[in-house]
Amino acid sequence: MDLFSKEPDYASLSYEEVVKIAQNCEKCPLSKGRTKVVFGTGPVPCELMLIGEAPGADEDAQGEPFVGRAGQLLTQILASVDIKRPGDIYIANTVKCRPPENRAPLSSEQEACWPYLEAQIYTFVKPKIILLAGSPAIKAVLKTDEPITKIRGTWQKLPGSEITVMPIFHPAYLLRNPSKEKGKPKWLTWQDMKEVKGALDYHKKLKELVKEPED
Ligand code: URA
Ligand code: SF4
Repeated sequence: MDLFSKEPDYASLSYEEVVKIAQNCEKCPLSKGRTKVVFGTGPVPCELMLIGEAPGADEDAQGEPFVGRAGQLLTQILASVDIKRPGDIYIANTVKCRPPENRAPLSSEQEACWPYLEAQIYTFVKPKIILLAGSPAIKAVLKTDEPITKIRGTWQKLPGSEITVMPIFHPAYLLRNPSKEKGKPKWLTWQDMKEVKGALDYHKKLKELVKEPED
């Protein structure tokens, strides 16, 4: 524990201990409206991580990220490039509690919740690749004001780390823009996902090559 902050040093705790702390968290006003804290799901560690915006009604009820309509579309998008849920990807959000009426999380709420996401990224999941779904996730993690239409589909670096980041459209946006026509958001997302799959395969291959031969 750092003497000068009230925040525990999550890096020194186990994953289960951090989940338990988050489940009782009252660091921001979103704690008042939540049913369940949606910490995140998936293997720890994991090569691939996705960060969404905030839990919605279904997530708040079930305590799991991306289980509503947008979540079902996300599952399909991932499956189209052979990425399976929950085995191949760890999924979390910029805030762990549902904002009222599904409004976008405030930056003050994202900041209050950041230490959990930071611990997920750097201490527990330690991904090679992070997918950032939608503007609020892109802003919170990359600290940029670049519009999503410009930045999506382009590899970014997580500042101060070796982690590569791919900003993508949010599945809820794709639900509102269902055309699969070339150049439309759904088609663009499929191109982004093929790119991500290629990079994941590259990391897997590299891991096999550097593996010590067993005797
Ligand atoms: N939208 C998000 O951004 N996150 C979820 O968990 C569900 C919907
Ligand atoms: Fe705590 Fe994050 Fe929930 Fe706010 S959103 S109460 S910081 S867990």
